[in-house]
Amino acid sequence: MSDLRIYNSYTRQKEVFVPLTAGHVGMYVCGPTVSGESHLGHARPFITFDFIYRYLIHLGYKIRYVRNITDAGHFEEEGREAEDKITKKAVVEKLEPMELVQKYTNLFHWAMRAFNNLDPTIEPTATGHIVEQVVMIQKILSEGYAYAMNGSVYFDVKKYAAEYPYGKLSGRIMDDLLENTRDLDGQEEKRNKQDFALWKAAPPQHLMRWQSPWGEGFPGWHIECSAMATKYLGVQFDIHGGGMDLQFPHHESEIAQSTICNKQMPARYWIHNNMITVNGKKMGKSYNNQIRLTEMFSGQHPLLHKAYTPMTIRFFILQTHYRSTLDFGNEALLGAEKGLKRLWEAYVHLDKLNSGNEQDLQEETDNRIVSQLRELDEFMNDDFNTAKVLANLFEIVPVINAIKDKHLPPGIIRSTTLELMKKYFKQYLENILGLKADSELSDIKLNGVIKLLIEVRKEAKSRKDYVTSDKIRNQLNQFGILIKDEKDGSMSYSFE
Ligand code: ZN
Repeated sequence: MSDLRIYNSYTRQKEVFVPLTAGHVGMYVCGPTVSGESHLGHARPFITFDFIYRYLIHLGYKIRYVRNITDAGHFEEEGREAEDKITKKAVVEKLEPMELVQKYTNLFHWAMRAFNNLDPTIEPTATGHIVEQVVMIQKILSEGYAYAMNGSVYFDVKKYAAEYPYGKLSGRIMDDLLENTRDLDGQEEKRNKQDFALWKAAPPQHLMRWQSPWGEGFPGWHIECSAMATKYLGVQFDIHGGGMDLQFPHHESEIAQSTICNKQMPARYWIHNNMITVNGKKMGKSYNNQIRLTEMFSGQHPLLHKAYTPMTIRFFILQTHYRSTLDFGNEALLGAEKGLKRLWEAYVHLDKLNSGNEQDLQEETDNRIVSQLRELDEFMNDDFNTAKVLANLFEIVPVINAIKDKHLPPGIIRSTTLELMKKYFKQYLENILGLKADSELSDIKLNGVIKLLIEVRKEAKSRKDYVTSDKIRNQLNQFGILIKDEKDGSMSYSFE
């Protein structure tokens, strides 16, 4: 089997993955800011890093997967006030900040479970690591790359950029940064426009505040990830992930902080997923196209024609390579819904197929299937190409269906090939891609069972076996399924 190759956003090339410690992987992924509900845009990074995590498990690695919860310190980007997102929202919702944090953390976990994402091995919170952040800021100050001003501390980007390749990850150059840095709060305190806050002095009305050597305040957003990654994964670790929108300023700042504190680049491989656009447009508050996950699952949004299950959304994301843009639209979602149903039904049937007489062997079909299955590992090893994996699985579906529908004898493929198909379909669909039968697919099965029972009841009635026919009707009734005898002798059913 080929080696796993990962596209490293830092070097902008695919590199063979060699972990720092053989057999072990340390992975840090930037988690949600729990000041509000997750929207469709958040689904992509968390599903992407879930299949990456699952594939690394499949390869036999022991992984420490750290995904933080940002429950303090994420500045309101548009605002000029020194307020973080959590505090602002807590005032609006009239909740204690930690109540707000708990509410949206619970909702986030609920969505992650609905997507069948595995839990990270550590999920640290920013508020639980204030001490570590303060210590790190002190270190940066003592190294001379930060300065304190009126109770706040800023990172000296200009000084850092003179010695280190600041902007390399995001591809931005210093002049560009100077031009494009928006006027945010604290500009008058900063030596240079592009400096970012490590610590902010808390104004009197600010709810979330902690003691620090610089007075009462709260941490900047970037420092929490540097502090928590260092604490749980060490000064250098294998993979750092997140959405492409985090490259600047967040990850660029993380690199700068860790480089000064730990004298090393924090991560060896940077992985960034591309964004989801909506009908060709970037998602954003100003476009009114941020669809919340609860709205996706219920269909309650003007842009949605119907509700989409978490598995449909997962499948939709898996169908495109994670570094390509993905455009959301009802057509595309409906296509994903159909595709998933077709693939999953074939998978369910495949499990029931028995091998046949190999006198019917079609050598060419058999060989094709074997090589298509073997290619799956190659596709995943080539920078996690789930799109190609699904394409190959789809090419095998017609053969499964033809055997199931008895258009082709089961013996057209070898029994060893059939076993290989069963193994790969299970391994890939369930273990690596993380798909599962969602409730809509279970409904299909349930409807099938009810229809079967109705048939049995009809037969019982036709031979005047009223004991059996009443038993079926009454028992279904107890499960809340109502059977109605129509005038023309047919039967219909409804749910109570
Ligand atoms: Zn982060």
